[in-house]
Amino acid sequence: MSEKNYDVVIVGAGPAGMTAALYAARALVKTVVLERGEPGGELLNTEYLENFISYPKVLGRELADKFAEHAKQAGAEIHTYTTVDRVTRRADGMFETVAESFMDGAVTYVSPTVIVTAGGTPVKLNIPGELEYAGKGVSYCAVCDGGFFKEHHVVVVGGGDAAVEESDYLSRYASKVTLVHRRDELRASKVLQQRLFANPKVEVVWNTVAEEVLGDENGLMHGLRVRDVLTNEERVIDATGLFVFIGFRPNTGVIDGHYEHDAMGYVLTDNTMMSSIPGLFVAGDMRAQLTRQVTTAAGDGTTAAIAAEKYIVGLREAQQHGAGTNTATFEAVASAKVEAGGYAH
Ligand code: NAP
Repeated sequence: MSEKNYDVVIVGAGPAGMTAALYAARALVKTVVLERGEPGGELLNTEYLENFISYPKVLGRELADKFAEHAKQAGAEIHTYTTVDRVTRRADGMFETVAESFMDGAVTYVSPTVIVTAGGTPVKLNIPGELEYAGKGVSYCAVCDGGFFKEHHVVVVGGGDAAVEESDYLSRYASKVTLVHRRDELRASKVLQQRLFANPKVEVVWNTVAEEVLGDENGLMHGLRVRDVLTNEERVIDATGLFVFIGFRPNTGVIDGHYEHDAMGYVLTDNTMMSSIPGLFVAGDMRAQLTRQVTTAAGDGTTAAIAAEKYIVGLREAQQHGAGTNTATFEAVASAKVEAGGYAH
């Protein structure tokens, strides 16, 4: 296994990771971003964004390309098709990020700081038939799969921004979209709700939960059994597609070792984005916070990169002052440097 040394290793090339890369590279620290696919993260699952300030309407892919280009121009390396297996903090305080790369095979990246921006994975309904018909009617990405459902009836489950926005998107292809929500009001933002209610191709079914995905002998979905939670009445919605948008769970599996998190598994950080593991920063959708937007992910990435640079400066000062291999002293000085702030760029 080969070994490479960096100042900052960033896991994930979504908006948080690429913004962190931009700031870290501009601070002249040696920066690499490890991304298992192409740069973009959730941007690649979004057709248009209408809430990225200064862009009233922009393609997710276009923004992803611009983010990556900008981070690279600043000097960050982006290693695509490189899947991180684990990030481990060694006894001497350095991190080992073990990754498998399409081009280079197994590589260990050694660095004093890591910024994990690995995002999240869609939550499953966990109902019978869901896994069986995944890819045969059941999907978690409208931009990826919507085109397969031209003139079909599809069901969307969920009541947040994603479910509402994607119902609207799917209505371009589908003959009808039925949005099934477990309560009698949506969680999604009002502007998205207004657009949804004005869309003649979308019907909202309230107080209803999905119970089972039904399919035929060819292995294709043909219906969804649902239950009204107020009356307990069950019925089948005849639909060939089911899009599930009931939230995300953070991709924290790469972090090896104990870290503080909330009840849902989101990583708790301080206001510098540092987790309870010294030198390990977390930004974007993996972090415990109120909302998950491209803008907030980018903000997290900015803070994490600036804090990581201060942390590195603190470590170097501790070494210069003869802290030697005393990790506790390293951490105290580095963390104090992060807290003190005061580095202008
Ligand atoms: P979310 O906001 O957590 O909403 C999840 C929805 O799924 C809720 O309506 C919830 O119902 C429902 N739900 C959860 N578990 C369920 C289950 N087992 N069965 C049925 N329904 C269930 O998730 P999201 O919509 O994926 O959004 C995630 C984050 O990304 C949010 O912060 C969101 O603002 C952001 N986002 C923003 C945009 C945008 O700004 N355009 C687009 C997409 C996502 P309850 O309401 O009853 O809890």
